[in-house]
Amino acid sequence: MNLLKRNMIIYKTAEEIEIMREAAQIVSRTLGKCAEMIAPGVTPFELDKMAEDYILSQDAVPGFKGLYDCPSTLLISVNEQVVHGLPTNRPFEEGDIVSVDCGSVYKGYYGDHAYTFMVGEVSEEKKKLLQVTYECLMLGIAEAKSGNRIGDIGFAIQQHAEKNGYGVVRDLVGHGLGKTLHEDPQVPNYGRRGKGKKIENGLTIAIEPMINMGTEKVMQLDDNWTIVTEDGQPSAHFEHDIAVINGNPEILSTFKYIEEALAKKK
Ligand code: MG
Ligand code: MG
Repeated sequence: MNLLKRNMIIYKTAEEIEIMREAAQIVSRTLGKCAEMIAPGVTPFELDKMAEDYILSQDAVPGFKGLYDCPSTLLISVNEQVVHGLPTNRPFEEGDIVSVDCGSVYKGYYGDHAYTFMVGEVSEEKKKLLQVTYECLMLGIAEAKSGNRIGDIGFAIQQHAEKNGYGVVRDLVGHGLGKTLHEDPQVPNYGRRGKGKKIENGLTIAIEPMINMGTEKVMQLDDNWTIVTEDGQPSAHFEHDIAVINGNPEILSTFKYIEEALAKKK
């Protein structure tokens, strides 16, 4: 059965999308709590523990832990780490950029999104990388509307990243989302206009540009998880969960809690 499903988009009903919105919002609030905590001296382990406790308190379960043998609730990727960094006890340092990817399962449906945080003051170069990657995400989302194709999303992301001289990771992509974390279709962060599957109402996808300051090339560390840039330059990752409703993209997740937490810190 799994094989049959692999090439089939599972469109969601309005009721299913409402459950997915709650799953996404649980992740959003978890990332908001990460924003409050992240500072020099704090460790990824501490964030991970907080996130697990919080998700469990919301009648949900961590979405990544146990899946593909993932040992943690969060995947925390620092500086040249692109994604899939496993939490460690190595404290964050001033000037780091920290991508936190989080999943939850609520009433059988997944939420999955990510944000790249700054630890204290970071370089102008890194700030720009974060800004452009965030813009890539929003430009990609804007293309997720009826009549467009999946390639339009990747095209918009790739154009903006490459215009700024950045590398677009090819080896990892966004994805359909629902009762499983990764379903059809794949949503690459590169592509051509008018290519790929058609976008229709009920489509639920995670759009997640992974943008490198230098080369797009990445490799995996010996832990069999952490993906790093081949040239050691920094990388950023932002992700939202999207449903296509009435022909238009609706963002099920939110960065509102993160923004509120960061505004309080200033
Ligand atoms: Mg994710
Ligand atoms: Mg994802």
